Amino acid sequence: MLAGWIRKIRGSDNLRFIILRDMTGELQIILKKGSVKEELLESTKDLTEESVISVEGTVKINEQAPGGLEIIPDKLVVLSKASVPLPIDFSGKVDTGLDKRLDWRCIDLRNPKRAAIIKIQSKFVEGVQEFLSKNDFIFLFTPCIMSGASEGGSEVFPIKYFDKKAFLRQDPQLHRQLAIAAGFDKIVDIGPSWRAELSHTTRHLCEHRGIAVEIGFLKDETDTMRLEEDVIIAGLNRIKKDCKNELEKIGKKIRIPDTPFPEIRFPEIYDILEKLGKKIEFGKDYDTEGEKLLGDYVKKKFGSDFFFVNRFPFAEKPFYVMKVDEEPQWARSVDLIFKGVEQSSGGQREHRYEKIVRQIKEKGLDMNTFKWFVEFFKYGVPPHGGFNLGIERFIMQLLDLDNIREVVLFPRDPERLVP
Ligand code: ATP
Ligand code: MG
Repeated sequence: MLAGWIRKIRGSDNLRFIILRDMTGELQIILKKGSVKEELLESTKDLTEESVISVEGTVKINEQAPGGLEIIPDKLVVLSKASVPLPIDFSGKVDTGLDKRLDWRCIDLRNPKRAAIIKIQSKFVEGVQEFLSKNDFIFLFTPCIMSGASEGGSEVFPIKYFDKKAFLRQDPQLHRQLAIAAGFDKIVDIGPSWRAELSHTTRHLCEHRGIAVEIGFLKDETDTMRLEEDVIIAGLNRIKKDCKNELEKIGKKIRIPDTPFPEIRFPEIYDILEKLGKKIEFGKDYDTEGEKLLGDYVKKKFGSDFFFVNRFPFAEKPFYVMKVDEEPQWARSVDLIFKGVEQSSGGQREHRYEKIVRQIKEKGLDMNTFKWFVEFFKYGVPPHGGFNLGIERFIMQLLDLDNIREVVLFPRDPERLVP
């Protein structure tokens, strides 16, 4: 039995063609007077496009037919009849704006080009999971409900937690570190984070997902960089292997990048940017324009779409990052940039109790708010580090999409809470 949606129905009472679409592709159903039961021609007379049917019959190869196959049905059941007209045209013939498409997302995603993005994302995550699993990582789930903001920022969604105030996590950061303190030394949490940013950009969501990896006993932050390269290449290889059809549909090719990815560091970045005509105050972070300029610079100089930025100014990063002991203005804090856009932040974390306490004070944060986290560092925590790679952000850059919402099944942004 085959089942799916009617993409097209045409013909007459004597000869009718139905093109059936499902997740795997399309095929043609032929109802010809004399070769199928009369009642089948009758029952398909008023069928509408996008109705759901199931069919049983004889399958024939026909090079001319869409999908290369055709069916002469013995049985055809209408499972759900679609109303006409459809609220949006999703065939690509009419240009429907993104907002309207997202309002009608379930119908929008019936366009195989749009569904291809979701499938490619799935294979990316699958490839990453397989790699991590083979390398003895433990998959765990850290809490999404927090007592405070992990980064100490204001971009958090407050929630009512009985008679207490709680927040949705911005990042699975602190509990990932606590998992290291608990003795797990290779872990990954693939899950959501929430950002209450009122920004309307093409690369920010209010809810996004990340591959958040953490390892114990590392030499320094370069270990997290080498691991991240392997993670990305595993995901890309999986897409290359399993998504030939999807890539073809959207006209994309996957190129496996060379490793190691180039690395540029602060404070040299100030000089690089100044030469490119962008002056950043010493000790400050660069902005989106700077990020893009660095991307162009690396592409020209090293021929790479990927690069790491290392040694961010401590002043610009959260309290838990590790400073370079000899140059405490700079942190062992690493971002990955892909085609000029940030993909992940990470690096080595501070594991020495006294230093964490000092850094919390330095950031002007309230020690009591972080006591639940910091206390564990008194009782034996190895050097550790990791990164959180934004899944939607990565797929957006990989497929050169112009809006991150294209990668999300049902995106959440400041304006959108449904469907
Ligand atoms: P950006 O500067 O691009 O806003 P960030 O530095 O605030 O990102 P991190 O806290 O470093 O973000 O989060 C780790 C990764 O998660 C980011 O590099 C990005 O890939 C992804 N990410 C973060 N915020 C968002 C968001 N609002 N929407 C989609 N992805 C996000
Ligand atoms: Mg970041």
